[in-house]
Amino acid sequence: MPLPSPRQPASLPVLIAGGGPVGLTLAALLAEQGVASLVIEADEGYCTGSRAICMSRRSQEILGWVGADRPLVAKGLPWVGGRSYFRNSEVLHFLMPSEPSERFAPMVNIQQYYIEQYAHEAMQRRADLCEVRWSTKVAAVRQSAEGVEVDIDMADGKRETLRAAWLVACDGGRSTVREQLGLQLQGMQYDGRYVIVDIEQETRREVERLAWFDPPSNPGSTILMHRQPDNVWRIDYQIRDDEDPVEAVKPENVLPRVQSHLEMIGETAPWEPLWISIYNAKCLTLNSYRHNRVLFAGDAAHLVPIFGVRGLNSGLDDAANLAWKLAFVLQGRASDSLLDSYSVERVHATRENLAYGAKSTEFMAPPDFGFKLMREAALRLAIEDEHVRPLVNPRQSTPIRYLGSPLNVPAQDDAFSGGAQAGDTAPEAVMQAVGGAGHLTRYFGRDFVALYFSERTSLPEQLARLPVEAIRIARDGHPDSKTLVDHLGQAWKRYDAHEGTLYLIRPDGYVLGRWREPNWPDVTAAVAPYRANPEPLAAHRRASTTETR
Ligand SMILES: Cc1cc2nc3c(=O)[nH]c(=O)nc-3n(C[C@H](O)[C@H](O)[C@H](O)COP(=O)(O)OP(=O)(O)OC[C@H]3O[C@@H](n4cnc5c(N)ncnc54)[C@H](O)[C@@H]3O)c2cc1C
Repeated sequence: MPLPSPRQPASLPVLIAGGGPVGLTLAALLAEQGVASLVIEADEGYCTGSRAICMSRRSQEILGWVGADRPLVAKGLPWVGGRSYFRNSEVLHFLMPSEPSERFAPMVNIQQYYIEQYAHEAMQRRADLCEVRWSTKVAAVRQSAEGVEVDIDMADGKRETLRAAWLVACDGGRSTVREQLGLQLQGMQYDGRYVIVDIEQETRREVERLAWFDPPSNPGSTILMHRQPDNVWRIDYQIRDDEDPVEAVKPENVLPRVQSHLEMIGETAPWEPLWISIYNAKCLTLNSYRHNRVLFAGDAAHLVPIFGVRGLNSGLDDAANLAWKLAFVLQGRASDSLLDSYSVERVHATRENLAYGAKSTEFMAPPDFGFKLMREAALRLAIEDEHVRPLVNPRQSTPIRYLGSPLNVPAQDDAFSGGAQAGDTAPEAVMQAVGGAGHLTRYFGRDFVALYFSERTSLPEQLARLPVEAIRIARDGHPDSKTLVDHLGQAWKRYDAHEGTLYLIRPDGYVLGRWREPNWPDVTAAVAPYRANPEPLAAHRRASTTETR
């Protein structure tokens, strides 16, 4: 299907309201799928102020599908663990699962405006298919069975009407699109307030997540610290319930508290504040992210507490889930009911994220006296008892499993004793490929991939006929254009593979189904809802798997 230019607004395939990190990443991912989009952004450029800093491994992988991982890894500060202190004592030193051969660190700290910049640069590399209109606001939305009509207000005061087949609302927590559709986020918000301060100060401290409960520098408070690139510290501290939030963010009240804490931890270099703001945690979501031809993603769809770092990370997962589904529908490769699964999977993910976020928030800022007593008891005990320490361990962002997804193919799961089930993200492994060693996840992110574990050098004929990219995973031998060699044995182990085991991986890196030994009519039926890509995959594949990291 020839794709219209985004500069022909009358025939846009996808209009994206909001050019924050989620909207920009979605546009870049759609372009990677060959789909044109136009992003309408109210501001004149990238965000400012204290926003997201902790980007998960999964987010790095998603950004990697559009080449935005390279600048992110070059600029960001990777970390694998953290420490918690109760008064003067260290009560926890945690490490997230990680090993040197991983493609990405479990977490990278970087300011949100860099993520927006890298996603926008990825869009600019596909300028034939996507663009952003800055300083332009979505003002009104009307939809019909065929598409949407969107009024946009431009900086010069003029109004224009755009038409598109699909509108994706990525316009943040105060979404105009949500308001236009008469929808409301459901849930609750916490009363506890946190002051968020970014300061510039040189430091040689290791990059890790640092938390203090009731520290001598600020008795009764909880303080979190994260290093960011450009010699910036993020400092979050809880204010007392009886403190006036307007007074609390005044520099004369903030700076002495920060100074006292920096002194306590021995950070003596000169410093200056960059941003001061106030935050309270919210647990809110729409009940559905699809409303006919309007789809919701990122903060427009859900607001999760910052403790647990799942806001932007989950927004990028929304974009990853939606991009291939929208592309398949627009390219006639799947029916539009595929988009219902976007809502099912991502609303489920939000509910999980909200549960984790709520637990983290209740630990960071206990909502009542009972929670406070329990937390203090756990922290006291954790000083002496390592069995209590998991109770004070923060829950880090991990990909949500879609085990109940309507897309999953329940294929012979009981024949496996390990590996990844349908609805899990496909495990990573270091492989030998033509051109050198590389990671298996580099092959995900665009189309369906079949991983066929076999020592036999030729692929079965039935596999070659499927509308997927088929890759043979051999234990040894030489790699070729269709064969990766599992020289470290990681893939066979992590996929619990035997001779002939087959996994089908979705374009967003999730397992669709798996077979101990493929029953070809079942495998063919599993991919029947998804027709072949009109564009050959080989031309697209990120050419070699030689590592940059
Ligand atoms: C202090 C703080 C710390 C955080 N830390 C983390 C963290 O470490 N990790 C994490 O994952 N998340 C974190 N978050 C959450 C993260 O910042 C958000 O989840 C993220 O910004 C969501 O991105 P988005 O693109 O959905 O929305 P936004 O970033 O809000 O972008 C929405 C965009 O839409 C535009 N817009 C709004 N209305 C219109 C309109 N009518 N027309 C056109 N454009 C419009 C806005 O200008 C904006 O650019 C943090 C948030 C805060 C406040």
